[in-house]
Amino acid sequence: MTIEEALTSAASRNWIERGGTPATPGTGRLRPLGLREVTLRDGFWRQRQQTNRSRSFAHIEYWLEKAGWLGNFSAPPEERRGREFADTEVYKFLEAMAWEYGRTRDPEVARRYRAIVARVVAAQQPDGYLNTNFGRPGQQPRYSDLEWGHELYSFGHLIQAGVAAARTFGDDELVAAVVRAADHVCDVFGPGGIASVCGHAEIEPALAELYRVTGNRRYLEQARLFIQRRGHRTLDDIEFGRAYFQDDVPLREAESLRGHAVRAVYLAAGAVDVAVETGDTELLNAVARQWRHAVARRTYITGGIGSRHQDEAFGEDFFLPPDRAYSETCAGVGSIMLAWRLLLAQGDPRYADLIERVLFNVIATSPADDGTRFFYANTLHQRVLGTEPSADTQVPRATSTLRASWFEVSCCPTNLARTFAGLAAYVATSDDDGVQIHQYTASTIDTRLPDGRAIALEIDTDYPVSGRIVIRIARSPETPWTLSLRVPDWAAGATLDGLAITRGLVQTRRRFTAGETLVLDLPVRPRFVSGDERIDSVRGQTALVRGPVVYCLESVDVPGDVPLDGLRVDPNTEPVDRDGHVLAAFRATDPAAHDWPYQPLSAPAEGGPLMKIPLRPYHRWARRGPSTMRVWMPLTSER
Ligand SMILES: [Zn+2]
Repeated sequence: MTIEEALTSAASRNWIERGGTPATPGTGRLRPLGLREVTLRDGFWRQRQQTNRSRSFAHIEYWLEKAGWLGNFSAPPEERRGREFADTEVYKFLEAMAWEYGRTRDPEVARRYRAIVARVVAAQQPDGYLNTNFGRPGQQPRYSDLEWGHELYSFGHLIQAGVAAARTFGDDELVAAVVRAADHVCDVFGPGGIASVCGHAEIEPALAELYRVTGNRRYLEQARLFIQRRGHRTLDDIEFGRAYFQDDVPLREAESLRGHAVRAVYLAAGAVDVAVETGDTELLNAVARQWRHAVARRTYITGGIGSRHQDEAFGEDFFLPPDRAYSETCAGVGSIMLAWRLLLAQGDPRYADLIERVLFNVIATSPADDGTRFFYANTLHQRVLGTEPSADTQVPRATSTLRASWFEVSCCPTNLARTFAGLAAYVATSDDDGVQIHQYTASTIDTRLPDGRAIALEIDTDYPVSGRIVIRIARSPETPWTLSLRVPDWAAGATLDGLAITRGLVQTRRRFTAGETLVLDLPVRPRFVSGDERIDSVRGQTALVRGPVVYCLESVDVPGDVPLDGLRVDPNTEPVDRDGHVLAAFRATDPAAHDWPYQPLSAPAEGGPLMKIPLRPYHRWARRGPSTMRVWMPLTSER
């Protein structure tokens, strides 16, 4: 089958009809559903998805024009603006528009998409090369800086946009350009070509996905080559060391995720894609092992990753200081990409547990309510009042203490845009015998099993406000099938129709009747948690979690002039749930002032009388003006 035939085949038309979906492995434990098979209804995520479309899209397009990054595609080389990877923000925005079109068929989105595609495609060279920063008179030669140039990374995002377009718009102008670009990459970096990799992974999952769309094994083989080559000290050493771009140890030998967090998870996602498509169980197991290690030892309570600012990187095991949490928004996006692929491959509900944590505590935290300001880094402890950057300035990436309109490196807003547009994809999956629900949000699922049996479900819930989830069977075949529900690892005491269930997956296999309901109750009551004692920076402290949502203490909620540093939380007083916040009991202490902050060991001060102070969801922080904030709170006394 030629690529043109593949792009117009029955399988391709089927995906378009189902609205497309961000990853479509050829094999695996679970199958993804399309963006038109799962519809979010009014609730936590639907609201954010709507804001993404109604506000963030226009905001992003405005800034791509204002910063000149869209204009770069038609500007002469001497007028090219932005960082070396600025093209990719345009590509990620195209991908976001494609998913949005897939789910809504919104003609205005299609019109804006086509206008931008025309400008991008016009910049492609006759041999398929496309990058506004290299190769033209006065610019560095092509592929002269694989460590920092981001050329293959840029191709990766271009290809991802084309993959999204193929699954939603079908065979169009962008898809044709992307096929030419991918052929160029294979020509230059294939067997006998440049035997190297890109400093920033991304081309790997992109090529594997393009293989899934086109059926052309050349792209899969190239993705496999890039995965194989990395880790053999192919790139030059840099100040951060080769672990920064995962070129220190071959992928299948590494013990954990390491180095630059976004690069690490994009690479691992590509490795899962390659492993699944080539039947490479050893590689799949290696990535799963590294994921488990990183989740157990290198992940913040929010699900965020990256605790070193200087290289935006994972630290050593248990190096997770709250006040230095980098936890880049993009690393959250990449972490979902990785966990989603592992979930599809292996079906383990722990992957969906992590996706939930990241969604509620990283993805929901970054954007302002109006969708036009964003956190780039997501600290867990803000010691000084931040300042709101002016709406029309680009700020350096991680220095903003409050949400900013745009960044000099503005990877996060466009990454959020494509995630929100494709969000419905992460709610549920199917297999030969039924449907699995992974994320709880008000939604409708309407799908067919591979044997043609039609199943429709309506999920009613205000989760995570309450943990009550009502699943109504709207359509069911006459024959038995299995409904699988994820019971999160925090949900001890969960029930299904009043009967106690264990955490993990609860599976019900029987004949269902249209109109019947199942009621899942997840106990979302607030609870104090402690960190592994090897996370020294949170020892002697506690955090409050309610369901999947991490809470925080903000100075705007503290009465009087008591600084956050002087508050100790009493773990023996039960926290009380109250209208969207949680009241916890604190005692104020007056930290003694010394000329030297290290003094002879003494018992901690007992503090003043108990006072109740509200804690708010961490994702709500800094929405009421500048405040100081902390997730981890010192305890009144050692328990
Ligand atoms: Zn980012």
